[in-house]
Amino acid sequence: MRLLLLSCCAPCSCAVIESLAEQKKDFTVLFYNPNIAPEAEYQKRLAENKRVCQQFGVPFVDLPYEPEAWKNCTQGLENEPERGRRCAACFELRLRRAMRYAQENHFDVVSSVLGVSRYKDLDQVNAVADKVSADVGVPYDKTNWRKGGLQERRAQLIKELALYQQTYCGCAPSLKKN
Ligand code: SF4
Repeated sequence: MRLLLLSCCAPCSCAVIESLAEQKKDFTVLFYNPNIAPEAEYQKRLAENKRVCQQFGVPFVDLPYEPEAWKNCTQGLENEPERGRRCAACFELRLRRAMRYAQENHFDVVSSVLGVSRYKDLDQVNAVADKVSADVGVPYDKTNWRKGGLQERRAQLIKELALYQQTYCGCAPSLKKN
């Protein structure tokens, strides 16, 4: 089974990547995050995620930065709270692109770490993923990547690898709240 793992950032994905690599799973990490602003922040998170993949010898793919695509799909939702409708639209954009990439590149299944942070609603991520999966026709693996000691390992790895830790989710509206 070839797995495509959509990642939002190094802190949320590091323990999952380490665990899958140790299990010798056939997987690739995909970075598609047009939600991140400003671009300097995007570049910082991209470089850190790439560094984690290099550390564990895992293939890493980054798709072009498309902030306009994110703005278009979340227009009018700027004042939504985190976990609200803007986040659902944001998840959908990223998961749809990931599933299209998986289809075009012969992956069997997609998963993501979009629900790993405790600030995120995992049920919301899974509901959006189910919808996109049914539309595109690519299976989505709903493993709860917070469990099995991964949260604890995540905290350790952040320290061990001295990972950059952002102080906001990613988009301009989430930045203003901090
Ligand atoms: S808060 Fe995070 S998940 Fe929600 S819209 Fe902004 S970047 Fe996307």
